[in-house]
Amino acid sequence: MSADETRTTQPDCDVVVVGAGFAGIYALWRARQRGLRARGFERASDVGGTWFWNAYPGARCDVESYNYAYFFDPEIVREWDWSDACAAQDEIQRYLRFVAERCDVVKDITFDTKVLSARYDETAGLWSIRTSGGETVVCRYAILAIGALSDPKAPDIEGVNEFAGEAYYTSSWPKDGSAVLHGKRVGVIGTGSSGVQAIPEIAKIASEVFVFQRTANYVTPTRAGPMDPKLVAALRKDPQATRRAFRDTYGGHIPLDMGSERFSELDDSGRERALLKAWAGNYIALAFRDAYLPEANAAISEFIRQRMGEQVTDLWTAEHLVPWDHPYGGKRPCQSDVYLQAFNQPHVHLIALTETPIERIVPGGITTTAETIPLDVIVYATGFDAISGPVFAIDILGMKGQSMKDTWADGPVNYLGTMVQGFPNLFLPSSAMSPSVLSNMATLAEQQIDFIFDTIEWLDQHGRPRLHPRPESQRHWREETLRYAERRPGALTTKSWYSGANIPGKPRVFMVYCGGFQRYNETCYAELERGFPGYEVMGSP
Ligand code: FAD
Ligand code: NAP
Repeated sequence: MSADETRTTQPDCDVVVVGAGFAGIYALWRARQRGLRARGFERASDVGGTWFWNAYPGARCDVESYNYAYFFDPEIVREWDWSDACAAQDEIQRYLRFVAERCDVVKDITFDTKVLSARYDETAGLWSIRTSGGETVVCRYAILAIGALSDPKAPDIEGVNEFAGEAYYTSSWPKDGSAVLHGKRVGVIGTGSSGVQAIPEIAKIASEVFVFQRTANYVTPTRAGPMDPKLVAALRKDPQATRRAFRDTYGGHIPLDMGSERFSELDDSGRERALLKAWAGNYIALAFRDAYLPEANAAISEFIRQRMGEQVTDLWTAEHLVPWDHPYGGKRPCQSDVYLQAFNQPHVHLIALTETPIERIVPGGITTTAETIPLDVIVYATGFDAISGPVFAIDILGMKGQSMKDTWADGPVNYLGTMVQGFPNLFLPSSAMSPSVLSNMATLAEQQIDFIFDTIEWLDQHGRPRLHPRPESQRHWREETLRYAERRPGALTTKSWYSGANIPGKPRVFMVYCGGFQRYNETCYAELERGFPGYEVMGSP
């Protein structure tokens, strides 16, 4: 598309929302509430986002459902009952469908349609959004609610296309039941959160399971199970107050009972007591008030390693399932009550790639440096090209034809986790340098979409059509993100997707804001209250 082709003076609608997960559904509802004309585009055939795509066996949330949900509408809060404290994928997708229907936004969404490009016309101050359906929609505001974990990582293993059996990705698991694993020899590559959830379920039906593990992860108990009815009643009593309370916490969820004692002030037996109590309550990360200290984190890491090892009967397997190369929290920790025990079954085999790396995939299976393992099925639980992947999948050109790919060539830059300098009125919720996966992302989706629409309202009220961040604001925000990451044990030393280390050649930039939800929310709204000093506000009043 040339610049001339995108030049236009009249918008087709006010807002285009790309993506129909937690953020996109709420964005369409907020647009409607403000009387804005909105169009939504979603490459999936239904709403749900993450919960549409990741339909692998065992998929469920690990932030409890009674807070991993919307709170903007008291009726929705009171009407929806979760069957489990940590609901499974299909239930979360049904919930998102229920919300989308209740908010009547489904009719605004064009499904099975990918957004291919977004072009900014500087003269008109409008965005042209081009889709795989051949449509170009011109709008004032573009909200790319495309998710942080929505672009599966292509497997970087030789011979992937040579495999003669069936291959499935946890990140796009078939929903039509066509993935048949019964009685099959299944190889699973990857032991992050997805692999850890899927492996015990696959082990229930497969004849043999071979788990190809490159890096062992911390695995702690889940909080799944029956919900505390008193807690649910308390959350439902005043959903607006609940919502405010969530935003005033570090993680954007129900205020947690943080350990009242400091690691630095306890003796060994006091530390052990605090660790055991936190483990029993399933909040091991909060064992101490000063759990962020490297020494406290080292004690927590060692405690988890011991608990993990105790659950595995074979010594070699136990030693290899326990993570030694990074501290707890360096990678996204996993939760499961059944993962480690799955390896106690005779048909579940751990292949430690640290000792015998994969050489290539061959038609009949996987060849490591030690052997060729014959397989009928390979399951790739190999993760995502997180945060920048889905952004780069759209060809985005902003002011002066500046491309997003060039702007983020050295890693993502933005201000307050939502807007990029040179791309006025383009919003990126759930993206880089927001609390993102270190928070409850349902709370984040509501907070960011609220902030985006409160920003739009401010622009309208002040007769100023657009804004984008100042370069110095972006620099400051990147430094701020790095400053908090430096305080988080293992954040900058561990190879994780948080810093792009899972994708060969991706710039290493820590992409998650660890300053906490409360500080993040307050910083956003301080900008609004002060008239957006960190932004260039454009157009005459
Ligand atoms: P998504 O849900 O990712 O939705 C983005 C949508 O945009 C997708 O449907 C995608 O198809 C669409 N899209 C992307 N690009 C385009 C394009 N170019 N054109 C059209 N459509 C496009 N977070 C938690 O807080 N707690 C949890 O317990 C938790 N569990 C998770 C479990 C799994 C398996 C995964 C993968 C993630 C989990 N997360 C969890 C993170 C999760 O991604 C967020 O909680 C949340 O669902 C993100 O919502 P979203 O709307 O921002 O993005
Ligand atoms: P992930 O955490 O990135 O894990 C990918 C796994 O695949 C890692 O074990 C990785 O090993 C391995 N891998 C990748 N390429 C490989 C290769 N070429 N050879 C061998 N192994 C390879 O991805 P994920 O498990 O899909 O999880 C991504 C994120 O989604 C999580 O961090 C979390 O935020 C979210 N999630 C949450 C839940 C939940 O319970 N709420 C469930 C699933 C996902 P290395 O570690 O060595 O790179």
